[in-house]
This record gives sequence, structure tokens and C-alpha cells, in this order.
Amino acid sequence: MQCDDLLNYLSDYIDNDLDEALSAEARAHLATCPNCKVVLDTTMQTIALTRDREKRVIPAARRQQLFDQLQDAFLNQPDKTM
Ligand SMILES: [Zn+2]
Repeated sequence: MQCDDLLNYLSDYIDNDLDEALSAEARAHLATCPNCKVVLDTTMQTIALTRDREKRVIPAARRQQLFDQLQDAFLNQPDKTM
């Protein structure tokens, strides 16, 4: 699995919506890729914070927006090692 794939699956990974094989691949990638691990941690923290503040689940569209922003930020990192 590449970083691009991981980012595509990140939302489903967080929601535990991936099938077992993909989930295993995602975990394997996260174990070896500090960049994606940071993106995952940041995403989960942001979701947790937003949840706390709003006391409800983030709407899907809003979450997609968040993921897109994170993905842009990640892919535009000058020192990315992909
Ligand atoms: Zn990666």
C-alpha cells in the first residue's frame, strides 16, 4: 500500500469500514510510514475535538472536507518521502 492509497482509505479505516485485508494493509503501512501515522493521529484528534465541541457525530460531508484538507496538506509537504 502506498501513501495515496492509505489516504484514500483513511476515513474508512478510522470508521472500521475496511475489509480485513485492506485494514491489515493499512495497519502495515501505518507501522512503517511516520507521515501517514501523523495524518491519522491528527485526523483522529480533530474528530475527537470536534465531537466534544459539538456533542454529536460530524456530518459525513464535513468529515470529507476535513479529510480533503488533511490530504492536501499532506501531499503538499515539501519534505514528503513518497
Ligand atoms: Zn504513507
